[in-house]
Amino acid sequence: MPRALSISELENFPSLDWFDVAPALTPEVRSSLERILETQNGNAIAQEEAFALAHAEGDDLLGLLAAANLLRADLAGNLITYVVNRNINFTNICFVGCKFCAFSRGPRESDTYFLNPDQVAQKAAEAWQLGATEVCIQGGLPHGLPPFYYRDILRAVKNAVPAMHIHAFSPMEIVYGVELTGMPLADYLSMLRDNGLGTLPGTAAEILDDEIRHILSANKLSTAQWIEVIRTAHRGGIRSTSTMMYGHTETPEHWVRQMRLLREIQDETGGFTEFVPLGFVHQNTLLFHQGLARSGPTLTEHLKVHALARLLLAGSIDNIQVSWVKLNRRLSQLCLHAGANDYGGTLMEENISREAGATAGQYTSPEDFQSLILEMGRIPAERNTIYTRIKLKLPLEKFTAEETLEPEFA
Ligand code: SF4
Repeated sequence: MPRALSISELENFPSLDWFDVAPALTPEVRSSLERILETQNGNAIAQEEAFALAHAEGDDLLGLLAAANLLRADLAGNLITYVVNRNINFTNICFVGCKFCAFSRGPRESDTYFLNPDQVAQKAAEAWQLGATEVCIQGGLPHGLPPFYYRDILRAVKNAVPAMHIHAFSPMEIVYGVELTGMPLADYLSMLRDNGLGTLPGTAAEILDDEIRHILSANKLSTAQWIEVIRTAHRGGIRSTSTMMYGHTETPEHWVRQMRLLREIQDETGGFTEFVPLGFVHQNTLLFHQGLARSGPTLTEHLKVHALARLLLAGSIDNIQVSWVKLNRRLSQLCLHAGANDYGGTLMEENISREAGATAGQYTSPEDFQSLILEMGRIPAERNTIYTRIKLKLPLEKFTAEETLEPEFA
């Protein structure tokens, strides 16, 4: 039996050096981690070996975290990036009924809301004034939505703020838009792109396994549909994020399979900009209250998932983002020591996790991000949505030579 780790040992893992921890690991785990570190490629190990890493405990778990942190430094340097953006959830009316969602409302509930395209554009314009470069637009799925509503939102936002990057519409919304318009998927996506859609959120992925999806939300798009939307979007020049919700009914094997599936898609399309693990926020959800799920991830699971993502996606998806609204600030920092390199967006307003019971707040200012990052001894940098423009937020002379970034990130 591996020895049990204390909370303080887990919280103090950032002070560990891989080369000091490695000798204490079981030979199989050490060999898997060494192969990934040497090749900087998560494909260097077989699925069974990845399952063993996902079950690591005791010293093996500390080794996993230290290896992920080392690989992060090699692949992403010492920068921690973030994007200045605003979340706009244009309606909370939704017929899908996901059991993990505390945000959606039935049409006759008293606290529903629905923003028209001009109101969405107004919010985008306000965000632009405050320095945002991106709006992230998603919403519930109400019955009877005008067929071209998603297109009309894009037109209104682009009209108001032509340079704003629009990151919008989950694969579930895309499937709904296709149903509403009767257009073929590829044509529908091209129409959205031509009207200003920049990138898609790779949400609605949850766990890409139909048995688990059936428990979480019987009405949601299938694994095959999610993959088809993402592949078609990428082929049409629309990049996306990739996500996974963990800490509910899934097992560590599901994490591994999902990461390997995302790799496969990435190898084919190159369209993913990052991977975002999303911890299940259980408090106000049916899924938890009906006894169908555990009460969200443990500290070990949060750290392990971020570390596994860095290791298993290495050489394929090299940006690993923490979702600070689902974690608290300290936990976000720990996950950024366990392999992650991106803080996500400032958001300005965030409704979905807050309704489910998350308490991290609705807005983190760029200044807050900068001080959280500096506290960790890393370098804050603002990025655009697709990581092609990265702006350091402090002059380089503030850092020692080892702390500064690799030239290709400049
Ligand atoms: S997660 Fe999205 S699709 Fe599911 S119920 Fe909530 S708003 Fe609707």
